[in-house]
Amino acid sequence: MPAVKKNKKQYSPKNRILGSFYGTNNGPTIIVFAGIHGNEKAGVHASEKVISKIAESNIKFKGNVHFILGNINALNKGVRFEKFDLNRIWRNEHFEDPIRSDVGLKAEKKEKKEILSIVKAILLNDPGPFFFLDLHTTSASSVPFITISDSLNNRKFSSNFPVPVVFGIEEFLDGPLLTFINEYGHIALGFEGGAHEDPSSVVNCEAFIWKALVHSKCIEKGNIPGYAAYQKVFENLCCKYQFFAIKYRYEIKPDENFSMRPGFENFEPVKKDSLLAFSNGMPIPSPRSGRIFMPLYQKQGEDGFFVLKKISKFWLWLSIIARRLKFNHFLRLIPGVNQDPENNYILIVNPKVARYLTLPIFHLFGYRQQIFKDDKLHFIKRDRKVTSFP
Ligand SMILES: [Zn+2]
Repeated sequence: MPAVKKNKKQYSPKNRILGSFYGTNNGPTIIVFAGIHGNEKAGVHASEKVISKIAESNIKFKGNVHFILGNINALNKGVRFEKFDLNRIWRNEHFEDPIRSDVGLKAEKKEKKEILSIVKAILLNDPGPFFFLDLHTTSASSVPFITISDSLNNRKFSSNFPVPVVFGIEEFLDGPLLTFINEYGHIALGFEGGAHEDPSSVVNCEAFIWKALVHSKCIEKGNIPGYAAYQKVFENLCCKYQFFAIKYRYEIKPDENFSMRPGFENFEPVKKDSLLAFSNGMPIPSPRSGRIFMPLYQKQGEDGFFVLKKISKFWLWLSIIARRLKFNHFLRLIPGVNQDPENNYILIVNPKVARYLTLPIFHLFGYRQQIFKDDKLHFIKRDRKVTSFP
C-alpha cells in the first residue's frame, strides 16, 4: 500500500459528497465525515475504499450511507487548516462568541457552511435513526480509539468496538463538530485510526466504517465480502474496550514555542511531575499521574497534550442507574443551580456552588460543563431526545 502522504489528489467542493448509497428500508442513516483536518487523509482514503467496494460488489443495503469530505481547501494544501481549526467552530448559536465568529475564519466558515447544508438536507430527507462517524488520525503513534460525548446511546454504540473510549473532550475543546451534532440527540462517534502517515491507519478506518455499518444495522454482515478480515483488524489490535476521562489539557498559547519530548505514545502511563514537554525552553512536568493523550508532534494545533484517568466500572454502572432513574432532577433543587428557562437540557450554575458540588457529580448525571457565560457556568446534558436542526 502506498504511504498516505504521497497521494497528491485534489478534491473539489463540487464533490464534497464522496458517495451516497440508499438501501431497501431507507434507514438507519450513517453519515461519515473524513478529512475535517486536512492533514488527516487516512479517513478519506478509507472512505474511498469502502465506496469502491460497495460499487464493485454491488452490496445490498437496508439503510443509507453518506460520505462527506471535511476541510477540502486544507486537504488540497495538506495542512490541518487554513486559518482556523474546522473542528473548533461548531458552537451552538446559543453560545456563539461574536469575536470568534468574525474575521479570519473565512476559509473554514465556508467549509462549515457547505457541510452544514448537506447535513441538514440529509436529516430532512432520510428517516433515521442517524449515526455520525468522524474519522481522524493523530500526530503521535497510537492504537485506534474512540471519542464520544458521554451519553448512554453513544456509550452503547461504542461498545461494539474493542478499543479505548475517551469522553469529556468537549469540556476542553471549544466547538468540536460531534459535540454540536450530539446536541440534537444523534449518536456520534469520533474515530482516531492511528498516526497520520501510518498506512495501517487507513486499514483501521476502513474496518471501523464496515463494522459501524453492520452494528448500526445499515448492512447485514453476510452481504459484505471478506467481512471477517475487518473484524480481525480489531481483534489483532489486542485493545480493550475501556473508558477514560480527560482530566487535564495543556493549552499552547499564541507565539509559545512548545515542544513535546519525543517518543510518547497515546495512553502511555505517566507519573506526576515527570517531564513531558518544553515551553520556550522551560520544562513542563505532568500535573498528575495518569495516561498521556494526544501529545502534539506537529506544528499546527493548540492542544499540547492531555492527561487521562481510567474510569472505574463502578462509576460507569452508577451513572447508568442515576440517569435511568432520572436523579438529575434533584440537582435543580440545590440553591444556586437553575434550569435554563429556554433549554430543558441546560443547568445554569453559580460557580461557588459548582466548586462545592464538584464536577464529578454533574458528570455522573450526564452533564458536561460547556461554557462560562454571564458569570455563570452552563452545564449541558448529553442524554437527550432527537430534535431537529435549527
Ligand atoms: Zn483530527
